[in-house]
Formats: sequence, C-alpha cells, structure tokens
Amino acid sequence: MSCDATFASPLGQSSTALGIDLIMHSATKYIGGHGDAVGGAVGGRKDLFKKMRNESAIHHGAIMSPFNAWLIARGMATLPLRMKAHQAGAQAVAQKMIARLKIIHYAMSLGHHRSLIFWMATDGLMETSFKPHRAQLEAYRAYAGDGAFRLPIGLEDADDLIDDLAQVLG
Ligand SMILES: *Cc1c(COP(=O)(O)O)cnc(C)c1O
Repeated sequence: MSCDATFASPLGQSSTALGIDLIMHSATKYIGGHGDAVGGAVGGRKDLFKKMRNESAIHHGAIMSPFNAWLIARGMATLPLRMKAHQAGAQAVAQKMIARLKIIHYAMSLGHHRSLIFWMATDGLMETSFKPHRAQLEAYRAYAGDGAFRLPIGLEDADDLIDDLAQVLG
C-alpha cells in the first residue's frame, strides 16, 4: 500500500504506523516550505526500493539539482516551527469563519440543496463511529489532530458561496 502524505507532512501523519509500505512527499510544499524549490521524496520498505529505483530513474529521472537539494534541506530545519504556525493560523481562521457565515449553514449532513459546514472533532467522531483501538485512534489523531471541517457544497450560486467565504476570510 502506498500513500501521498504531502498535505500532512511527515509531522502530521505517521504513515508507517498506519501500515503504509511506500510514502511519497512533494518536498516542494511544506518540507521545503518557501516556494522556491521543486523536489520529492519516497520512503518506506527497503525490499520495494530496488525495483522502484530502477524504474523511476528511467521514467522520471532520479537526481535533484544540488541547489534545489540545498534549499529543501535548509527549509526542513524549520519544518516543526512552520507546521505549528500553519496549524494555529488555520484553527483561528476556521473558528472565526463558522461564526460569520451567512449562506453556508452549520449543520452535519451532505447531499442537501444547501451548503453545510461542520466541525468533526476527532474524539466525538471516533467515539460515535469507528470505535478504534487505542493505536488506531492515536494514528488517526496524528493525522487529523483535534478535528477537521467538512464543507459539502449545495446548489446555491457558486459566486454567492465564494462571497460568503470571502466576507469571512477577507
Ligand atoms: C503538489 C503536490 C504533488 C506534486 O508535487 P510537485 O513537487 O509539485 O511535483 C503531489 N502530491 C500532492 C498531494 C501535492 O500537493
């Protein structure tokens, strides 16, 4: 099993604990962190590497430019600090957003004609649904943190929805 863990970053998800064999990251994103370098990384089971290395070198190229590698390595040093700042900012934006939305309703469902937004707190969600074992819960928490928003889009005019989000976020 493989996964692209770019969005979570290596700090936000323990992919090997979830049983993933090969984990991909775009280092262009959080790992590099400054929007000035392009790169990627694959980690995981050693026994799968040989075949992948041989084939990926042929199809995708295997060597990052030294300058890109240097920029990414330099960016990585501040990954933990940057991820904390990203999370704190996103949490603050999300809490203000809920209070001020006018068209998008705060309710838990989907498939409605109305657009809905709902905060899915990790603890509540796990207690009332999957009832995971402790290790599974810890793995999910490492991925989702305290929770995540769900925003199913209804049938309203898209510009109205964008304006609603804009008046909150702007
Ligand atoms: C950007 C991105 C990629 C592609 O990475 P590049 O380094 O831009 O080629 C792959 N997966 C996810 C989830 C991404 O966000």
